[in-house]
Parts: sequence; C-alpha cells; structure tokens
Amino acid sequence: KWLEAASYSLATHPDPELERLVDEVITLIASAQQPDGYLNIYFTVVKPGERWTDLRDAHELYCAGHLIEAGVAHYEATKKRTLLDIVCRYADHIDSVFGLEEGKKRGYCGHQEIELALVKLYRKTDEKRYLKLSQYFIDERGQEPHYFTQEKVEGKGFFDEFIKHLDNIKEYNQSHKPVREQSKVVGHSVRAMYMYTAMADLAGEFGDESLLKACERLWNHLHTKNMFITGGIGSTGKNEGFTYDYDLPNETSYAETCAAIGLVYWNQRMLQLECDGKYADAMERALYNGVISGVSLDGKKFFYANPLASIGDRHRKEWFGCACCPPNLARLLASLGGYVYSQTTDDLVVHLYVQGEAKFDLHGQQIIFKQKTEYPWNGSISIKINLDKPDVFGVKLRIPDWCKRAKLKVNNEEIKITGKLEKGYVRIERKWKNNDSIELELYMPIERMYSHPNVRQNANHVAIQRGPIVYCLESIDNVDSLHKLSLTKEGILTSIYDETLLGGVVKIVGDAELADDLIWEDKLYTTDKPKNKPFQITAIPYYAWDNRESGQMRVWIQEEVK
Ligand code: ZN
Repeated sequence: KWLEAASYSLATHPDPELERLVDEVITLIASAQQPDGYLNIYFTVVKPGERWTDLRDAHELYCAGHLIEAGVAHYEATKKRTLLDIVCRYADHIDSVFGLEEGKKRGYCGHQEIELALVKLYRKTDEKRYLKLSQYFIDERGQEPHYFTQEKVEGKGFFDEFIKHLDNIKEYNQSHKPVREQSKVVGHSVRAMYMYTAMADLAGEFGDESLLKACERLWNHLHTKNMFITGGIGSTGKNEGFTYDYDLPNETSYAETCAAIGLVYWNQRMLQLECDGKYADAMERALYNGVISGVSLDGKKFFYANPLASIGDRHRKEWFGCACCPPNLARLLASLGGYVYSQTTDDLVVHLYVQGEAKFDLHGQQIIFKQKTEYPWNGSISIKINLDKPDVFGVKLRIPDWCKRAKLKVNNEEIKITGKLEKGYVRIERKWKNNDSIELELYMPIERMYSHPNVRQNANHVAIQRGPIVYCLESIDNVDSLHKLSLTKEGILTSIYDETLLGGVVKIVGDAELADDLIWEDKLYTTDKPKNKPFQITAIPYYAWDNRESGQMRVWIQEEVK
C-alpha cells in the first residue's frame, strides 16, 4: 500500500528522492520472487512448503492483491514496467494454481482484495485471464462444498486464537452464501467493502445483471440501516464489522478507517455503473468525515477505530501492530483526483467539489476544467473551461443531497435547476467554447440531523451538519462532561470561519443548556426536577477532533424534548 501511495504521489508531485526509494524497494521485492512467480516472504522463508494451505486466515492472496494494485499504480505514474512485470508473473502463477480446471485448487481468499486488484491489472494489461480469475474468485465464494471447511484442519490455522471468539466465521468473511444470494451486509466490514467493490467492477465488465442486483441490495441494506452519520461502518470491534440493523453505538463504534475507505471505493465503482448522486453523496460523507478523522492534522498519528463519542480515553497512535489503516489513507488521499470527475462519451461529470485542474480527452481534443472553490467551508464553486475548438457536450454537476437550494450560472446567465435534476445531477448541454465559465452556488445552512427512531443510542439526540461536514463537541471548547449539554429546540446556531482553529475551519457556535448540578449536593437520586442553565456551545468538524488537549467528544448531542 505504501508503494501504491508513493506511486500516486510521484504522478502528482515528482520527487527524485522518493522515486529512488521506490525503485530500491521494487528491486528488493524482485529479489524475493521465486522462479515460478510466487512472491510472499512468509511462505518462502518462515513457512516454506505451506503455500496456499491457510487461505481463510493467512491473507496470502490478499497480500498479492495489494502488490498488484501497487504494480498498476507504479506503472501509471512512472511508465516503468519494473513492478508491473513482477505482479503479472505473480498473477500468472496464481492463475495456474486456482480455478475450476482439473488439478487446480478451488479456493479463494479469506480476506477479499485480490478480486478488485485483478480487475485493475486486466484494465492496465488487457489480459483477459486476470479478469476471468477475478470472476472465478467472486463466483466460487460461498459455494458448497465449502472450501474453508474442507481446508481447516483443527489447530493448524495461524489465526485460530484470534478468530475463535467469532460467532460465525463464514459470515465474518462473507462466504456464508454465494455472493449473488447475499442481501445483507454481514461480518468484517473491510472484507465486505473490498468484495462489493470487485462485484461492482465485474458487474460492469461482464454486464452481469445478477451481480449488479446483489450490489444494489447490499448497498441499500448498508446505507439505510448500518452506516454511521460519519460514513463510518462496523458497529463492533468483536468482528471488526457489522452486528444487526440500527445498532450504531457511539462510544464503542468501530468504524475502522479502512472500512470507510472501502466504502469510498465501492461507491465510486457504483457511480461508474450508474451516475446516481446517492453514490457520490455516500462517498463524500465518508471522505469528509469518517475517512479523514483517521489521521491527525499533522499527518503523523492515526485512528484505527473512529468512535462517535469518547470519554477522553481515545487518541490517535503513531502506528499499529496491524498497520492497515495508515497506508490505506495514504493511497486514497494521494489518488483523490480519481474520485472528483468522470466522463462518458458525451458528458463530463463533476462528482466532488475540490479545487484543482482536470484534463479530459473528449471528441478528439483536450478539455481542461479549472475548478476554484473553498468547499466545504462555503458552497461557491466556479469552473472555467478551456478547449481549442468549440464543441457540443454535456457537463453534469452534482447537487449534493444535503443541499436544498442551489443557483447555477453559465457565463453569468442564470440557468434554472428546479425540477431538472436527474438522479442528483444537473446537466448542461451546449456548444462550449474557450473560457466559458460555470458558477454554482450551493446554499449551505447549518442542519440538525436526526436518527431513525430504531437507533436506540440516538433517541432524542441531534447531530449538527453543515454541507458535507459532520460536527462534534469537544471538552476543550465546552465543558468536561459533554453529556450535560443539550441543544434547545429554537436555539440559534451560527457558523464562523476561524482561520486560527485547527488549521482553519468553520466552527459552529450557538445556544444550548447545561445541566445545573448544584441542586444535587451529595445525592445520587432525587425527586427534585433537574434544572438547566444557558450555555454557549462550540462545535468543530468531527474529522478534526483529538488534535488538541484531550477530553471528551461527542457527535450526537441531546436535544430538549418539548
Ligand atoms: Zn485498517
């Protein structure tokens, strides 16, 4: 994952020293590749002779998948084939070991990842075998006789100790049913996200309707019943994953950084299959909240789990024994440009509002978009279009689900949006010429967000959101015990840009009440009616919490009931 992230970084920020380091690592990796193409040091040095004997738990194909993704990224960034050739030889070897043909193993990995990597490798090399191998891994998963049941010899698994507490190991790695029969998200959330990502890729590549339908069912189940407001997923650390519908605890939420990243991958793939704003909305929710909360503002400390409330004992760490999240963040953020736009034969599509420049090849010429914005702090976006020859095409702009009022102008002339949205996007088709400009104003009021009543943890609680940013309270700006605060129904909330706070953020201040503990004296319980006193709260973006003096944090705040 580091190689992949470093490669993306080389593409946008050329750096000879980093490139030298990358080359050095690739030389080292090449030296470990076996004559038959196999490449995994653990099963070469530590456990030789035990290759592919613990597919369920040993992450062998998973590691291959990440190396393949790195090879593709490195080739894209540098046009050097050094790592790509290595991973092609490895993929060829894997293709010779796994499949339905006589003499091959009918296994698949306990931690999905290679499936999506093989699709990327196919797209880069045009080698159809890689796509077919990915399809095999997805199709074979959960079939009977069950591969993992046959594979497991009691006591042999490397991770038996680690996983023995799990209630359902097949659900944990989503092999409880063939994937096309799955309707509910279960098990380990990162495994699930990587699998659904590959399923969406394959549904598109093969025009596979049943796979697409499974993706849509699973997407609905996840996004309507099992996702935190931050775009985090995974309700418990027990299985690092899902529990049951509407179980979204705040202090003990798992919401692994990698899982929110996986949610971004999956939604981006769904968006490629169907330009529906609901996928971009989910992608944006995770990106601005549950993904970047995973890294401190100085980029040096990381959350593995991202709780939505803390009593002051949760802090980012510099590293983890299982260091999946930090390099996952690195590779996503270094490739963010790939999530902002997409194009079809006649449309250029803006999914996310991020300042920068994009180049499209359309109808035989290069079209440049220069996007200027201070999003997410305000909703003003301007896009300047540069092209040589005037041309007719569509520009699609996403109107986010949080935005109830938007204004659009092309070359200073207003264009009516009302009633013209197609699945969350407005489309402008015209003959575009050089220096045409688009101005989009997304009105971004402060919103109070409520949970479905089935979410027991959030009853009578409210979360503050402005634009795509979910807010939280921290003790340092408020009081030690945040649960004593409640928002008044009519209280006014105001947004203020504070350039000195947390690297420059919009904070929200407003009317609230604080439980008055004076009447309690030394009693634990009383029949006296509790009293509140007025209090001014300050809320900050959730992603930026735990970057100052430690204390409590909470996203969901009590709201006065009347
Ligand atoms: Zn992780």
